[in-house]
Amino acid sequence: MDNENFSDLTDDMLDDIQKSIQTIIEHFDVPEDNKNDVIRKINFMYTKTREMSITDSLTKLYNRRYFENISEREFMRSVRYKSPLTFAIIDIDFFKKINDTFGHQCGDMILREVAYTINESFRKTDYVFRYGGEEFVVILTDTDENSALCPIERLREKIEKSEFMFDGKKVNVTISVGFSSDTINASDAFELFGFADKALYLAKENGRNQVRIYRK
Ligand code: GH3
Ligand code: MG
Ligand code: MG
Repeated sequence: MDNENFSDLTDDMLDDIQKSIQTIIEHFDVPEDNKNDVIRKINFMYTKTREMSITDSLTKLYNRRYFENISEREFMRSVRYKSPLTFAIIDIDFFKKINDTFGHQCGDMILREVAYTINESFRKTDYVFRYGGEEFVVILTDTDENSALCPIERLREKIEKSEFMFDGKKVNVTISVGFSSDTINASDAFELFGFADKALYLAKENGRNQVRIYRK
């Protein structure tokens, strides 16, 4: 199996693989007193590899691969249980300028700190991903438009007011956020993501450092 296909594996499939590994080891010609040790080591390696395959190394958030895995599942769950769902896209404003002015090391530090702040701002049942360069996605489960606005707006304010320091210099950082909870008009996760992206575009167009919502 190549790396690309790894993202298609569901949690259930991965659990099955883990069980199969255990079965193989149990039937392996490993001395009885070593068996548990071997199983433990393989399980550790499996867990680490799995963790790495869904984690962004710079920010330690979930990566885009995992977003693609989780988003449709959460969308289908929200349809099945008629529970609200919100997708939010967060983009750091003028990030290229931060890199150009203070250097890439500073850019990386800002990415890590913003990622940490985003992660702290949402519930444990929500998912936070680094989607790409300076873009993050949050899946707010069981959360409608009105309930989503509050933590998102609070996050925007928090980043604006944060004192990011690099090399003794203050770096001003703001974010633009687009979000959508329009699961009625979206037919799948991809479309709901597209709605959130439209909202982000509006936030950028209207001057950045703001939160926008999109409904079809
Ligand atoms: P906008 O307000 O329209 O979003 O402008 P922007 O400058 O933030 O957007 P743009 O897409 O022009 O630039 C994004 C920059 O992010 C360009 C790229 O070099 C930088 N970038 C992407 N990934 C990383 C990273 O891992 N580390 C650092 N330091 N920079 C990164
Ligand atoms: Mg961007
Ligand atoms: Mg940007």
